[in-house]
Amino acid sequence: MRRNWLAARAFAQQCTNKLTLQRLYYHELRTHFALPSQMVVRCLARVAGTYRRDKTICPTFRPDAAMPYDQRLMRFAGLDHVSLTTQQGRVLVAFLIGPYHRQRFDDYEPRQCHLVVRADGQWYLLVVVQVPDGTPMPPTDFLGVDLGVVNLATASDGTPHSGEQIEACRARYLQYRRRLQRAATVAQMDGKRPKNIRRALKRTAKREAGFRRDTNHCISKTLVAAATGNETGIALEDLTHIRTRTRFRKPQRARMAGWAFTQLRDFVEYKARLAGVRVVLVDPRYTSQECSACGHIAKANRQSQARFSCQHCGYTANADFNAAVNIRSRAHVNAPLVAGRVPQQLWLLAGVGASDKLRHFSASSH
Ligand SMILES: [Zn+2]
Repeated sequence: MRRNWLAARAFAQQCTNKLTLQRLYYHELRTHFALPSQMVVRCLARVAGTYRRDKTICPTFRPDAAMPYDQRLMRFAGLDHVSLTTQQGRVLVAFLIGPYHRQRFDDYEPRQCHLVVRADGQWYLLVVVQVPDGTPMPPTDFLGVDLGVVNLATASDGTPHSGEQIEACRARYLQYRRRLQRAATVAQMDGKRPKNIRRALKRTAKREAGFRRDTNHCISKTLVAAATGNETGIALEDLTHIRTRTRFRKPQRARMAGWAFTQLRDFVEYKARLAGVRVVLVDPRYTSQECSACGHIAKANRQSQARFSCQHCGYTANADFNAAVNIRSRAHVNAPLVAGRVPQQLWLLAGVGASDKLRHFSASSH
């Protein structure tokens, strides 16, 4: 558990600097844990990076936490084998890769990777590839996109992506989960260990996440398609601090958090990048209270969740659509100033054939 060992020391000294940690603990890590030098470097980077996220807590790493690999620790041997450095030397491991990812794998250069083991014992190698920008075309217009609760995404061209069906499904999952949880509690009170119920809970969570991902893929695909090939960029609200904002009332906040908006936004951003569509993030303040016709800002303009009615000029519209138009106009103002926070990297998934050696390596080298 070299990461926890190092994390405890980093925490004790309140030190998040990789190089300082390296100066202090490099040799100890090398000798104490018998690590190859590049593994020490990765370990230092990982611990420093994780600790930096929140200095008030000492990070702990699971024994099966993801193992970062860089070009010095691994090499792809052909299209179906990878050579990985372990504490027991190099191991050559076969892997499986789907056709979609195989194509990306051929097209782009693989960069850093993470070796992870899932709860079911399957090994995966998460491969990051560097994707060059699509042909950048300076946009002459923007498609404003409002991410919401009732309508997951509303575009300034008027296309809503309703959340109704999805919300119904989410509610169904929630109900099912509650029922299982109640059953688990009852079983526990009877002195039984509700193993099957726990398993069912996990399965449901996974299924729901899959459904969410599919929906987000569909919506983001449609949005990016609408902006592709016509010199149009995509404008989104900069919602970096969404959870701290009070735009959403309490019951809605649960729905927000449950719906993985960050994922939808990330999907829009990376699909846009692949298609060569520029993404611009705009100031999200008052996008729902501002009148897109006259610019008047007032809380009273937003009459209900669905209805926007300007107190100044009398303009009325669907509230999400009004917000989307505001986002679009802001992109026109901001475009030269605010560059999109577009991820440069795309994650690929490759199933790694489990070998005993690899299993042993993971158990001993964290
Ligand atoms: Zn107005």
